[in-house]
Amino acid sequence: MRAHVLIPATLAVLVTACGSPEGSRPFGSAAPAGCAQLATVAIANSRLTLTESVAAGTIQLTGVQPGAPGSQAPVPAHCHVQGNINERTGIDGKRYAIGFDLRLPAAWNGRFYFQGGGGTDGTLRDAVGVLTGGGNTSNALMQGYAVVFTDTGHRDEPGPNGPYQFGLDPQARIDNGWNSMAETGRVAKALIAAHYGRAPQRSYFVGCSNGGRQAMMMTQRYPDMFDGVIASAPAYRVPLASVQAVYDTQLYARAAAENAPAVDGRPVLSKAFSPGDMKLLTNEVLNQCDALDGLKDGIVDNWPACKFKPEALKCSGAKTDQCLTGTQVDALAQSFAGVKDASGKLLYSDWTFDAGLHSTEWTRWKFGDSPTATPNARNIILMTGGLAMFFMTPPTVTQDFYAYALGYDVDRNAAGVFATNATFRESSMRSVAAESTDVDAYAKRGGKLLFFHGVSDPVFSVKDTVRYVDGLRQRYGARTDDMARLFTVPNMAHCAGGPATDQYDGLSALVNWVEKGEAPSRIVARARPENRDVTTPGRTRPLCAWPMQSRYNGSGSIEDAANFSCR
Ligand code: CA
Repeated sequence: MRAHVLIPATLAVLVTACGSPEGSRPFGSAAPAGCAQLATVAIANSRLTLTESVAAGTIQLTGVQPGAPGSQAPVPAHCHVQGNINERTGIDGKRYAIGFDLRLPAAWNGRFYFQGGGGTDGTLRDAVGVLTGGGNTSNALMQGYAVVFTDTGHRDEPGPNGPYQFGLDPQARIDNGWNSMAETGRVAKALIAAHYGRAPQRSYFVGCSNGGRQAMMMTQRYPDMFDGVIASAPAYRVPLASVQAVYDTQLYARAAAENAPAVDGRPVLSKAFSPGDMKLLTNEVLNQCDALDGLKDGIVDNWPACKFKPEALKCSGAKTDQCLTGTQVDALAQSFAGVKDASGKLLYSDWTFDAGLHSTEWTRWKFGDSPTATPNARNIILMTGGLAMFFMTPPTVTQDFYAYALGYDVDRNAAGVFATNATFRESSMRSVAAESTDVDAYAKRGGKLLFFHGVSDPVFSVKDTVRYVDGLRQRYGARTDDMARLFTVPNMAHCAGGPATDQYDGLSALVNWVEKGEAPSRIVARARPENRDVTTPGRTRPLCAWPMQSRYNGSGSIEDAANFSCR
C-alpha cells in the first residue's frame, strides 16, 4: 500500500522537516510523503535502505580522503535516501544491486539532477550534485535541485583488480553500461513525486568522463527521461580508448627502457619522459602553434590548424635537456596518430598536440611517477584494468595490468571489445559505447546536449568528441545547433586541471538553453589561482561553440575575456 495517500494533512505538515515547500503543490497532486515515510512507498523492484533528515551544513564526502581538497561539501537541509534496485545474485555467486543515493532539498527548485559517475564506478558517492568544470565550491543540491547518484550496479572489491571483478558478470556489465542509469532515473523520479507531491518540471543529467558517456547514453536510449544533459570529456567509446591506452603504454615503455635501467626485467614507465622533457615538448607546441590564432598567449586556440611536428625536437647526437631521443619522438608521433587495426584503419582516434601536456594531470595518466616495475599510471590501473576484465570478451582475470598491456597484441586482441559469447551476449561496444548519432526522439522533444572537452585531455581525445558532433551534423544539418553544442577548452586536461581556464558555469548555460531557449554560443571561463598549473591566475577567456574559436580583439588586457570574440 502506498503510504503517502494515508498521511493526514496535519501529519504531512509535521513530517516536512525535510519535506516539500508547502503551498507550492499544484491542484490535484498527491499528498507529499515525509522523509521517513518514503521507506514505505512501493516502487517496483526497489528497496530503501536509509531515510534520514539532514540539517544544513557541511558533510564529509564518501570515498574521498578526509582533509583532502574537496573532501567536504556544503549541503542545505534535505531528506537523504539510499536504496537498492534489482537485488540479485550474479553468475559469479556474488550479491549485486543497483545502489543509489538521493537527496531531496527542503527548498526544492522543481528540478531533477542526475549526477554522473566516473571510471568504472562501483562507489556509492554522495548525490550533492557535482558541477561541471574545476574548482567548484557549490553544488546543484545547494541550488535546490533534487539530486541522485548511482554506483551503477556493483561495488568495488579490495585488491588491484577489485574494481573490475564485476566484469565477470554479464548483467553487471549491462548495468554499468546503460541499465543502472535508466533504473535509477525511474526510481528517483518516483521518490521525488512521492516526496514533493509532484513530478520534477525539468530533468538534467550532468557528468564527466564516464558520467559524460552516461549522459550521451540517456539521449540515445532513454530520450524521454531528461530535458538537457552535459557530457564533459565523454567516455563514449571507452573500450576503444582503452586499447589506445595499452598501445600508449607499449610505446612509452620503449622510451622508458632506453632512458633508465629495467627493474625486475621491466621498463620503469615513469622514466619515459622527464618533467623537463614534457616542458620542452609543450614549449615547442607553443613555438609551432601558439600564434596561429593571432596572439602569443600560451593558448593554442586554433588547435585544429596546428600541424605539430615532434621531429623538430629530435636530438642530432646524444640526449640533452634540449632535445628528445628518436624513441621518444617516435612514441609521441605514433601515439598521437592513434592506434590502428591490422588494415591501418584508426581503431579509436587521433589526438592533438596541445600546450597543457606537461601538467601532471596529463603525465599521471600516461607514465605515473612510480620508480618501480609496477607503474601507477592511470592508463595501467584504470584503463588496462577495465580493458582486461570488463571490456574484453572473454575477460582476462589478472592482477598485473602492466604485463597485460605489454603483452596485448592490438592486431589480434582488439576484436575482443566487439566480441560476444555464450556468457556475454552483449559486446562492450554494444553495452558501454554510446556512439549512436540517432537522437531523433531526443531532438523531437527539444532535448539539449552540451559537450565540454579539454584539448589536453590524456584519456579521451577531443577529436573523437568533435567526430561525434560532426556525425550529428551529417544527420541533422543546421538543426544540430538547436540540440547539441560543443565547447573545447584549450590546455585543459581530463574534466578539469592543466594550465587552463577550467572554471565555468556549464549548468546555467544548459538550464538557460532548455528553459529560456537561450542557446549558448559563448561561455566565460576563468583560470583558478589555486590550480598549481596555472601561470596566469584570474585570466578569463570565452569558450566558444564549436567550430567557433576565441580571437583577441586587438586591444585591451589579454587577461580579460571582454577583449576576445568568438569567431
Ligand atoms: Ca595563442
